[in-house]
Amino acid sequence: MELRIRDLSKTYANGVVALDKVTLTIPTGMFGLLGPNGAGKSTLMRILATLQECDTGSVFLDDIDVLDEKTAVRRLLGYLPQDFGVYPKVSAYELLDHFAMLKGLSQRNRRREVVDGLLQQTNLFEVRHQKLGGFSGGMRQRFGIAQALLGDPKLIIVDEPTAGLDPQERVRFHNLLSDIGADKTVLLSTHIVSDVADLCANMAIINKGRVLLCGEPTRLVDDISDRIWGRFVPKSDLAHYQRRHAVISTRLLAGRTLVHVYADGDPGDDFEPALATLDDVYFATIAGHPVGAAGIC
Ligand code: ADP
Repeated sequence: MELRIRDLSKTYANGVVALDKVTLTIPTGMFGLLGPNGAGKSTLMRILATLQECDTGSVFLDDIDVLDEKTAVRRLLGYLPQDFGVYPKVSAYELLDHFAMLKGLSQRNRRREVVDGLLQQTNLFEVRHQKLGGFSGGMRQRFGIAQALLGDPKLIIVDEPTAGLDPQERVRFHNLLSDIGADKTVLLSTHIVSDVADLCANMAIINKGRVLLCGEPTRLVDDISDRIWGRFVPKSDLAHYQRRHAVISTRLLAGRTLVHVYADGDPGDDFEPALATLDDVYFATIAGHPVGAAGIC
């Protein structure tokens, strides 16, 4: 299914403009919505999940008016919110069974089949009788995906699902999401660039309520590839380089400081062409540098 968001705006009562004419087209597959904290991601996710009202704009899921036909959307929607809470004293099986009942799966045998299947899919079958309070962050998030998949949704919205997961759980969670993304529309909001780099065929970068860039991650990296330059610098000289160049990122590599700068041509100062990554696309975009052809998203 295709999700079409047009000129969506939302200003909170305190005057904060959370979304400013957001326009995006989200096709089937995994779509990454990347932006720093406060960018407006959760506001957008909640509006798409029919849990919050916008001020102006339109959203269509194929031919369903998402802002108007909320019941129809909810039938097709699976949502994993950022602050997904569980009842700590209940087992994974019991809670999923309860959610399944709320979703209308009243027939006992059929419900058992569905719940067992989802617990298997999310690799929680072995621990299904353990209490959710004892689950690790990764197990909890996988349980969150299991509940989001109830009712065989066509659109799945996951809000910052990998924050706080250890590297092993993140890989596990990525594998789960990429399996799901094969035939559904999955909208993944995150501030972690590697979530998008690893998983998403399409992406957008959002900041301060505005869509700054969208496209295919690999193409966006290609677009910027001749404008990223790098070198190691002594930590004490960092401020000097920041004054002289458009530094987009600094990071430690084996105890040394690697600086990436954005420049149309050789910036001098012994910088060398660097292998561009999606991190560079992200940091350059957030810093306001042009990346690729700004198109309609
Ligand atoms: P993100 O999910 O990208 O971190 P949010 O959608 O949570 O961004 O927030 C976008 C902006 O809206 C932020 O400046 C945030 O402080 C503000 N905001 C979010 N929720 C509310 C609210 N209920 N009332 C007022 N401001 C809010």
